[in-house]
Amino acid sequence: MTEPLDASVSPRFAQVATFGRLPLQRDLGNAAAVFLGIPWDDATSYRSGAREGPSAIRTASRLVRPYNMFADVYPFRVLDLVDYGDIDPVPGYTEDTFQRIQGGLEPLFRASVVPFVAGGDHSITLPILRAYRAARSEGVSLLHFDAHFDTWESYWGTKRYTHGTWVKRAYEEGLIRKGGVFQVGIRSSLYSREDVTANGAVVDRTFTTEDVDSEGYKPLMDRILRSVADSPVYVSVDIDVLDPAYAPGTGTPESGGLTSREMIHFVRELHRANLVGFDLVEVAPQYDHTGQVTALAASNLLYEGMCALARRRKPKAKG
Ligand code: MN
Ligand code: MN
Repeated sequence: MTEPLDASVSPRFAQVATFGRLPLQRDLGNAAAVFLGIPWDDATSYRSGAREGPSAIRTASRLVRPYNMFADVYPFRVLDLVDYGDIDPVPGYTEDTFQRIQGGLEPLFRASVVPFVAGGDHSITLPILRAYRAARSEGVSLLHFDAHFDTWESYWGTKRYTHGTWVKRAYEEGLIRKGGVFQVGIRSSLYSREDVTANGAVVDRTFTTEDVDSEGYKPLMDRILRSVADSPVYVSVDIDVLDPAYAPGTGTPESGGLTSREMIHFVRELHRANLVGFDLVEVAPQYDHTGQVTALAASNLLYEGMCALARRRKPKAKG
């Protein structure tokens, strides 16, 4: 059973920062889930900087505590969580980096370990989904929180593997299930009306921020979770789904986003899903004028994801 460092013995600002002050461990042991960093940002289309995401999230997560009263769970204990370290990218080389990511994730999926990944730019989700299919011979339902579609064909006429094209590639490669692809929080301006049509060919249902306002998080998640049923669900959270007021530290901010509280409520509903993987991407702390609010939201969202999984898995209380 893994435990974070005891804050009554070792102050939260002491020792090397790991996620939630968990042990840093490359040996999976009995882990049912791991935290993992992928510090890569060479596939961005605007402002890079998400290579600093994992370390900023680890530092902000020093404040995460071992018990969650909403889920009534001790997630680290239930899941035997460890900080699995980072996957080393190859700066400047997308294909090599994707191979390393896929190679790093495959053993986890083969062992049915649920990765909680801190990016990195959003391109990292594609090799993670490739790893899942390679390990488990099936695709996933995808629950994608983002301000942006990420279903574009390419950038600058040539670049097909970027943070804005990964959903399209995942669809083409058969990594995501027909009927099981959902987007939430979409609101960015587009290049043309055709973008909406092209996105609709890839994604089964897109819930914009206006839909979130009119439906509310619970009915909206009810609809999504009914559709995905017991299929394996992969959740990908682009931190720019939050309003820049709550997450200024990101490469392509868009006004009018979700609050961090709304997003936490969405993630808490995931205890009803067959969650097989979760990533939180696009945290670029350099642009965060507060220093830490973006990484704090990211660490809280990753923690809530872990709690949702642990809530589903914990032994039922007696009585
Ligand atoms: Mn985005
Ligand atoms: Mn994205």
